[in-house]
Amino acid sequence: MTRVIFLGPPGAGKGTQAKTLADNWNIAHISTGDILRQALKEQTPLGVKAQGYMDKGELVPDQLVQEMVQERLSQPDTQSGWILDGFPRTVNQAVFLEELLQKLNQHGEKVVNLEVPDEILIARLLQRGRKDDTEEVIRRRLEVYRSETAPLIDFYSSRQTLLSVNGDQSPEEVTSELHKLIA
Ligand code: ADP
Repeated sequence: MTRVIFLGPPGAGKGTQAKTLADNWNIAHISTGDILRQALKEQTPLGVKAQGYMDKGELVPDQLVQEMVQERLSQPDTQSGWILDGFPRTVNQAVFLEELLQKLNQHGEKVVNLEVPDEILIARLLQRGRKDDTEEVIRRRLEVYRSETAPLIDFYSSRQTLLSVNGDQSPEEVTSELHKLIA
């Protein structure tokens, strides 16, 4: 059973790697950013609530994302495994997830941290050109990452083995390292 949590700053390549590995292993790729962007496009109540935060590079409130993830992890296709990409992003969310996985009997996950230097992240995000990829919003997302999300590295290190991968390599090289580490 493969269950993986991807940690790492915006632009680290979590989405690219999560998608490739989920395809290879035929398991669910759960990206909270993708779910939120889809909700925004469809202007669902969730999308309307999330928009202002996303446009500014702020985190969407924990409760909204937590409900979303709980619903997603309760769907039958997650039984064969999953990769979480973009969640958890706060210690609160990590505590919630720990309890949820116990409840759903889905614990035993691996946690991977993708490491990439800041200057590379900014260059990559500027190139990507998503709506929330302007320089100002990128800087805010990196600040939020440092204050809210980076503490998860300690959170997980104290609980289980945290696997670290150098994300400053070609996507193929990163994928191949991840294959070796997780398989
Ligand atoms: P990136 O690719 O830059 O890491 P994502 O696609 O994962 O960005 O997320 C885009 C935006 O969606 C975030 O800036 C944030 O506003 C919101 N978001 C995604 N996941 C979460 C989460 N777990 N908690 C709060 N907000 C989130």
